Amino acid sequence: MKHKLEVYLLDLGSLHAKRESIVCRGHEEDLSRMDLPVMAVLIRHREGVLLFDTGCRPDAMEGGWPDNMQQAFPLTRSAGQALERQLSLCGVSPDQVDTVVLSHLHLDHAGNGRLFPHARLIVPAADYPMACRSVCEEEPTRRGGYIRQDLEELPAKVVQIGRDTQLFPGVRLLWLPGHTPGLLGMMISGGGKTILFPSDAVYTAANYGPPPLSPRSPYDKALLLQSMERVRKLQKEFGAQVIFSHDIETWKTLPKAPQPLFAE
Ligand SMILES: [Zn+2]
Repeated sequence: MKHKLEVYLLDLGSLHAKRESIVCRGHEEDLSRMDLPVMAVLIRHREGVLLFDTGCRPDAMEGGWPDNMQQAFPLTRSAGQALERQLSLCGVSPDQVDTVVLSHLHLDHAGNGRLFPHARLIVPAADYPMACRSVCEEEPTRRGGYIRQDLEELPAKVVQIGRDTQLFPGVRLLWLPGHTPGLLGMMISGGGKTILFPSDAVYTAANYGPPPLSPRSPYDKALLLQSMERVRKLQKEFGAQVIFSHDIETWKTLPKAPQPLFAE
C-alpha cells in the first residue's frame, strides 16, 4: 500500500425499521419506517488490517434471523453488498483481515464471523457474556437482537475490552456504553484529521442533536446520553468528523469503497 493509513466505508445494505424505535420523541404512535444503512469500516494500516463491524449474516432474511427480527428490521442487500465483495473492492480478502472489532454483538454488526477464523476478535467485555446468555433464551423475542449462530461463528481468539484502548498508532477504541452495556466506538486520527465512529451510541443526526435524543429502548438511557455527550466533546476537542452508524442522509454523501474515506 502506498499510504500508511487507509480507511474505507463498506456498504452492507440497509434495514427498514420503525421510525419511532430509532428517533423516539415520546408522543403518539408513529408507524412509518425509515431506511438504516448497515456499514463496516475497513482500515489498512502499516501495522495490520482491521475491520470494524461485520454487518448481517448472509441468510438473515432466509431464516438466519428469527421471524420477529425479520419483521422488525427487514434487510435489503444486493450481491455487491456482501461483505466479501465489499472487501474485494478494496483489494482485501477475508484472510488478510487480522483484527476484527465488533462495536457490539447485535445482529446488524456481528454477522459473517465465519469469514475470519484466524483473526483476533475484539468485543466489548460487558456485552459478550450478556449476548451469550441472551441467545440461550427459548423465546426469540427475549434474545435482544443477538443471533446464536453469529456468536458460534465468531473467531476463537477473543479479546474482551472494557475501556478506551489504543489499537494502532492513530486508531483508538472508545468505551461508549448505553446502547449496550459496553459498546465500543472508534476514533481514527492522521494527517491533521480525526474521524469518530460512535457505532450505535449515535444512530442518526436526529439522535445526536443537540439536544441528544435516545432511541426507544437502549440498555441504559442515562449512560447512552452521557456517551453521546462524550462524542460531542471529542468532536469539538479534535475538530472531528462524526460518522453516525445508521443515518441514511449522511451516508448518501460519504465516499464508499473502493473510494477511501481517508488516506494518509
Ligand atoms: Zn446497529
